[in-house]
Amino acid sequence: AKKKGRSETEFFKGEMNQFRIERLQLESYLRHAVVKNEMMIYYQPQYCLHDSRISGFEALIRWNHPLHGIISPREFIPVAEEMGVICEIGKYVLFEACRQLKDWHNKGYDHLSVSVNVSGRQLQNLNFIYEVKEALETAGLQPKYLHLELTETIMIENVQHSLNIMKELKALGVKLSIDDFGTGYSALSYIKDLPIDILKIDQTFIQNLLNNGSNKTDIAIVKAIITMCQVLSVDVVAEGVETPEQMELLKQFGCHHIQGYVISKPVESAAVRCLLEA
Ligand code: C2E
Ligand code: CA
Ligand code: CA
Ligand code: CA
Repeated sequence: AKKKGRSETEFFKGEMNQFRIERLQLESYLRHAVVKNEMMIYYQPQYCLHDSRISGFEALIRWNHPLHGIISPREFIPVAEEMGVICEIGKYVLFEACRQLKDWHNKGYDHLSVSVNVSGRQLQNLNFIYEVKEALETAGLQPKYLHLELTETIMIENVQHSLNIMKELKALGVKLSIDDFGTGYSALSYIKDLPIDILKIDQTFIQNLLNNGSNKTDIAIVKAIITMCQVLSVDVVAEGVETPEQMELLKQFGCHHIQGYVISKPVESAAVRCLLEA
């Protein structure tokens, strides 16, 4: 939700300010980026405090631009969304993340899950359900290991349509996550009506835990979200956990899953093996 409204103008001011390219040219660059294999997926571990091991990974895309080096998704995802190219990028991430996870399963790490971010544009795409099914079948992956991350904003923008698609996805057997929870303006009552398996507490709440400016309210909010999820049998993932102290507090609150620099930054697939063996 934070990144909504980032315009192309801001994009030009950012990574690509050296040259002014026309919108069409940028679109073709982005489209070609997929074909030319310039999109790379990094994986960030999600750690289970209960089992003391990595339980899965979130797939996070980067654009390895031949001239500009690695470009953050915060720079190009909003542009790709405006242009619709996000559907092709998203499809690539979906297929590649499933394929990669199956490979880790084959190597013996068969408890792992993979979380894939889904943009609003993708969810509107009538092909989306079919693509998810195809990605799972192509990889030979059991659906429950694929977690799809949707933001509150996406779900609330078009409630009836989103709910229908979410039900179809649930029928396939994949798990659904609410990403960046707490950053939108949605009412808590939505949570009980949506077929959600996992809720990710946004990193802004976690970073307000135990820092200098932290107060009782921040702690109470996080605690309340965790308790609410326990009542609703929704799994919680705390995002952006950076310190052992934050990790310890979350554990005390009964939060089972964390993601953040305290465990590891997102890494290339080749480096995942080291994390699993550590
Ligand atoms: P997100 O889905 O909320 O992903 C979490 C972001 O927080 C990632 O940034 C991750 O690197 C960063 N992060 C993780 N742990 C920590 C921590 O402990 N401290 C701090 N400060 N940051 C942490 P990243 O990889 O730059 O991705 C940014 C956003 O781009 C993602 O936010 C997501 O909204 C979007 N994105 C990334 N990959 C995809 C994709 O394949 N499709 C779509 N539609 N969006 C994507
Ligand atoms: Ca996410
Ligand atoms: Ca998030
Ligand atoms: Ca986000």
